[in-house]
Amino acid sequence: MTELPETTDWSVEQSAELYGVRHWGAGYFDLSAEGDATVTVDIEGRSIAVPIIDIVQGMQERGLEMPCVLRVENLLDYRIQQLNEAFSRAIRQSEYQNHYRGVFPIKVNQQCHVIEEIADFGQNYHHGLEAGSKAELIIALSQLRDTESLIICNGYKDAEFIELGLYARQMGVRCFFVLETPTELPIIIERSQALGIEPLIGVRLRLSTTVDGHWQEDSGDRSIFGLSTSALLDVVEKLKAHNMLHCLQMLHSHLGSQIPNIRNVRTGVAEACRFYSGLVSEGAPMGYLDLGGGLAVDYEGSSSNSTHSMNYQLDEYCVNIVETVRDTLDEMDIAHPVLVSESGRATVAYSSMLLFNILDVRDHKPRKLPEQLPDDCPDVLKNLFSVLGTVTSQNFQECYNDALYYRDEVREMFHRGHATLRDRALAENINLAILGQIAALLPSISRVPSELENLPELLSDIYYGNFSLFQSLPDVWAIDQLLPIMPVHRLDEKPTRDAIIADITCDCDGKIDNFALPDGHSKTIPLHPMKDDEEYYLGVFLVGAYQETLGDLHNLFGDTNVVSVKINADASFDFQREFEGDSISDVLSYVEYSPNTVQEQLRKKAEAAVRQGKISVAMRKQMLKAFRDSLQGYTYFER
Ligand SMILES: *Cc1c(COP(=O)(O)O)cnc(C)c1O
Repeated sequence: MTELPETTDWSVEQSAELYGVRHWGAGYFDLSAEGDATVTVDIEGRSIAVPIIDIVQGMQERGLEMPCVLRVENLLDYRIQQLNEAFSRAIRQSEYQNHYRGVFPIKVNQQCHVIEEIADFGQNYHHGLEAGSKAELIIALSQLRDTESLIICNGYKDAEFIELGLYARQMGVRCFFVLETPTELPIIIERSQALGIEPLIGVRLRLSTTVDGHWQEDSGDRSIFGLSTSALLDVVEKLKAHNMLHCLQMLHSHLGSQIPNIRNVRTGVAEACRFYSGLVSEGAPMGYLDLGGGLAVDYEGSSSNSTHSMNYQLDEYCVNIVETVRDTLDEMDIAHPVLVSESGRATVAYSSMLLFNILDVRDHKPRKLPEQLPDDCPDVLKNLFSVLGTVTSQNFQECYNDALYYRDEVREMFHRGHATLRDRALAENINLAILGQIAALLPSISRVPSELENLPELLSDIYYGNFSLFQSLPDVWAIDQLLPIMPVHRLDEKPTRDAIIADITCDCDGKIDNFALPDGHSKTIPLHPMKDDEEYYLGVFLVGAYQETLGDLHNLFGDTNVVSVKINADASFDFQREFEGDSISDVLSYVEYSPNTVQEQLRKKAEAAVRQGKISVAMRKQMLKAFRDSLQGYTYFER
């Protein structure tokens, strides 16, 4: 129910306001005058906007079904450019006496074409890669060609990991081992001496600075990462004893991801500088200060220090870091180090969106009610019916109580066999109509009783989307991540339905019922009524970071199709890459079925059915073809 208040007309501007696109879109997303969501890129100083629905059209023509992850290469490049240029500007303005080197943490999006693009475009800025495992180090070694770029190895490193890094050193790669625990050091010393290759060593510090937001446990005394101060001194002693203190050249700290509050950044950087200078005093050459990730993304567009937002801009972030390092080290007369940061989320989040179509809607609109009830229907139904149409802003609470009371009476009678199926349906229907009338009054009521606060949500529609939350938006499920969501077309029409969004897994957790709208967090989102002859497409934006690999195979919905486009100066776009999502056969093999064996089992079953006279040979042929096609097909709903 809950029709939004009617207005005679509706403008695209109102949609922009409603979905907050100009707040979270950061200039990359907006609406066209025709009411389509657009992705906007900057090409040679000109701003080029492409309607996302046009790209969807292009996918359709190429047989790429929904759901689909859409990557915009320009946005990935542009973010790397902006990050590097913002640091350069801050360095120039502050007369900081060294340069910046960014690295992209591979864990944030390991997909081959993302890393290839970062390695390729990143060469312009000597942008490197951060690896947290052997597999990621192998990716970094194979993708980076620029020898000025850094490779930073975090994570727990065994002898094999260390050998890989040492071989890279020997080939001239600037590959740092960052010590996470004291136990890594003996392996590094032993392996480097055995191979005769000198390592570059960094130390990851456990800062006492803590941060706001979801990732606060990445820092502070009880963080599971990094060395304590006394462990740091043990490392220094051990390096001295092996005559290797000159290898210690980097201090590393990472306060946590998505730091919403700039003050935490400043405090953390200042603390890291004290450790840096302490190590210089101990005689280590140093030269690099790596401040980890944490640069946030304003998912809700509120520019605040709430968990899903950030109270600062990129430039401010860079200036804060550069000035804090300059001031703290100048005080102690220590040369400025190369500044390194490992921004993952802020680099890739904008470049991807998840697109899906709506398959079905369950609304809570009452069916058409009769003018009058038949004389012989139960009294309680008549009582319920009499509440209808009497709801006012004075008596709505009483009407609410009565409606529920009579409806429950009918339910009770039904359980005992004293009311028919039709009686019950009628009661539910009348009740819905009354609740709808009450809900329509609520916006005009100054103090809504707490009992009724959830009424709009209870009456909202369920829009069933063709996607799996677990596969494509795992953080929404796991850590209540808020992501901007809006239709990608029809934005010149008024969205008259209030809805939550459910996915197609058979799991009641597979739903989105928390939305960041400019008025605040809402349990429902306004959407357009479905049309019979037209698909309705929604986009979930800013999903380029962490979502793809963290996703899982719940209900065996596999990877979605992925399309990577590049927008040109004339607003045309090229499909640079297309990746078909998992087939059913693929997902079966992930859980150890052999698709060939499965097919053979189906063949035997069909053959037995022929022998038993249940199906004809012709039917067998048709069935086996259907099985085969199915195994090759997409795991999602296909039209
Ligand atoms: C996860 C991680 C990052 C990336 O953090 P973002 O907030 O995505 O920028 C950087 N460095 C380390 C050590 C990490 O573990």
